[in-house]
Amino acid sequence: MAHLVSARTNKATMSPDRPKIRNAGFVLIVEDNVELAQSVGIYLDQRGYAVDYAHDGMTGLRLAADQKYDVVILDKGLPGLDGMTVCRRLRTEHRSTTPIVMLTGHTSLEDKLQALDGGADDYICKPFDLRELGARLSVLIRRDQGKTVQGILAVGDLTFDTGTLEVTRAGQPIEIGPVPLRILEFLMRESPKVVSRERIERQVWGESLPDSDTLRSHLYILRRAIDKPFAYPLLHTLPYVGYRLVDMRAVEAEVT
Ligand code: CA
Repeated sequence: MAHLVSARTNKATMSPDRPKIRNAGFVLIVEDNVELAQSVGIYLDQRGYAVDYAHDGMTGLRLAADQKYDVVILDKGLPGLDGMTVCRRLRTEHRSTTPIVMLTGHTSLEDKLQALDGGADDYICKPFDLRELGARLSVLIRRDQGKTVQGILAVGDLTFDTGTLEVTRAGQPIEIGPVPLRILEFLMRESPKVVSRERIERQVWGESLPDSDTLRSHLYILRRAIDKPFAYPLLHTLPYVGYRLVDMRAVEAEVT
C-alpha cells in the first residue's frame, strides 16, 4: 500500500546553533524502489534540499498536484499509475508547470523522446550517478534564478525575453521546457557562431556531463518547437562540428 514519509521532519533533530537552511529547493521523489528513493533522498538532503517521497503513482500525482515543488523526480515504472500517466495528468488535468525529471530503465532514444514528449523536462537512465542527478536538478531549478537577468535576445524572427523567459517566433508564443530553454539561450547568445556539442553540454550540465543522447533529444525537442511550424529553420547542425542558431537568409543577403 502507498506510504509516505517526509524528510522535512528531520528539521526537529537539527542542532540549534547550526541551523540547516534548506534553500537548494523542494523536491518530490516518486519511486517505488524504496532503497533507491532513500539513497537519492539522503544525497539531496545533504545538499540542502527538502525532500518528500511517494512510492506509487497515485500518491505522487496527488502530492505533485497539491504542493509547490521545485522539481519532481518521477520513476517511469510505478505500481498503479505509471510515471508517463502521472506526468501527462500533471501537465493536462492539473496544469502543473513544475519541472519533472523522469527516471527510466530504458536507454533507447525513442524511450527518452517518449519521456520528453509526455511532458517531462529531462530524463535520466538507471543506473545513474547521484552527482549526475544533482547536476540535472540544479539546471532545472536555476531556471527561476535566470528570471532576474533582464534583456531580449533575438535571432531572425525568434526572440527570447530573459526576464520573463518568454519565447516567440514570428510573434507567436512558443512553449519550451527548462533544459531546451537553456540550450536555446546559449545558442542565441553565441549566434551567429558555431557552438560545439561539448560547449553546449558544459554550459547546461557543468562538469557532470550526460550521455550523448541527452543533448540530441533536447535539441530534437527544441528544433520541433522553434523551427518545425515555421517556413525556414534557424537551428542548423554542422555534422562533426556543432550547432549554429542563425537566420541564413540574413547571412546570405549580407554576402550578396
Ligand atoms: Ca520502478
